[in-house]
Amino acid sequence: MFETLKEQPADKILMLMQMYREDPRDTKIDLGVGVYKDATGLTPVMRAVKAAEQKIWEDQNTKVYTGLAGDPAFADAMIELVLGDAVPRDTVAAAATPGGTGAVRQAFEMIQMAKPDARVFVSDPTWPNHLSILKYLGIEVVPYRYFDNETRGVDFDGMMEDLKQAHAGDVILLHGCCHNPTGANLNSTEWDGVIKLLLETGATPMIDIAYQGFGDGLDADAAATRKIAASVPECLIAASCSKNFGIYRERTGLLMAIASDPARHDLNQSTLAFLNRQNYSFPPDHGARIVTTILNDDALKADWMAELEEVRNAMLGLRTQLAEELQRLSGSDRFGFLAQHRGMFSRLGTTPEKVEALRKEHGIYMIGDSRMNIAGLNELTVPILAKAIMDVGV
Ligand code: PMP
Repeated sequence: MFETLKEQPADKILMLMQMYREDPRDTKIDLGVGVYKDATGLTPVMRAVKAAEQKIWEDQNTKVYTGLAGDPAFADAMIELVLGDAVPRDTVAAAATPGGTGAVRQAFEMIQMAKPDARVFVSDPTWPNHLSILKYLGIEVVPYRYFDNETRGVDFDGMMEDLKQAHAGDVILLHGCCHNPTGANLNSTEWDGVIKLLLETGATPMIDIAYQGFGDGLDADAAATRKIAASVPECLIAASCSKNFGIYRERTGLLMAIASDPARHDLNQSTLAFLNRQNYSFPPDHGARIVTTILNDDALKADWMAELEEVRNAMLGLRTQLAEELQRLSGSDRFGFLAQHRGMFSRLGTTPEKVEALRKEHGIYMIGDSRMNIAGLNELTVPILAKAIMDVGV
């Protein structure tokens, strides 16, 4: 029977990683795959994660199933981290999921269950997995303008114009912070405009927050998510712990569904548990337990926050260094956007041909749409990248 299957498109990022591995040049630079790397090119296990794992190893005396929605203590800890006290706790239904991707997938399925003809508005561009999961589920996608290729910031007017087409029963997918793949983000006045539009159109927001703590800090990065959640009647939030806890392979995420009033909470909660049951039954627990252990222990939490700040500041330092180096070489401010962008990524805003030239002539690997992983750089490689960018004429 399987002869009827069609070849599926290969993942472009994984293909690029393969090419990078096979490149014999020792000067090559990998700005492709989206994982944090320190100055030595390693993705370390965070100190608090190691300590929490040891604690779990010592204290855990059973591996029996948790609940269908995961351990409620994980949901409590993550709701506090993402939402603070923005909404009453009894309006938030939540389920642990395998990574942020699992949360995104379950959110789309919940939307489809509730409204089979819902359209999902997505930024152009967005994380490619949003598009491929939506396509796979047969959900209609409506792109909205987002990246301004001239300023390399957000085309806010275009975005708002496009989002006016949404109506009640549609979903507007927003990146809570550190937009992937562009690095360009809304300011707080612009977020207020989006909230006004959400209330006017009646569309439901879905917020994907995968980089809390990588942009301007844990609270600052959650500010837009909190404000939206507090302002609209209903909203979905897909949170990932992969990046900010550095536990990529543990597959740790949380889907939150916020209802207009507590009476709607139980239906949302049972729907989330039902969706987990249909897809994989109980969600993975190890990563969730690490996160819960850290967030519920003052000393571990303080150490995790300190290390996350080191990570965040390292990326900001690289951004500033790169922008300054390019200003020096080009004699202009046209690369200033690199210091304005936030999170792990920046879209350089150049052509696939120039991206190809950077790879062929300089051994610099970035995604074809010119997305660079800033964390792939270090103090020594920033000047090499800057020179190469000038050399290919970006
Ligand atoms: N959303 C966005 C925008 C992302 O960039 C990512 C990570 N690449 C995720 C969700 C989910 O990541 P994970 O499943 O690894 O937690």
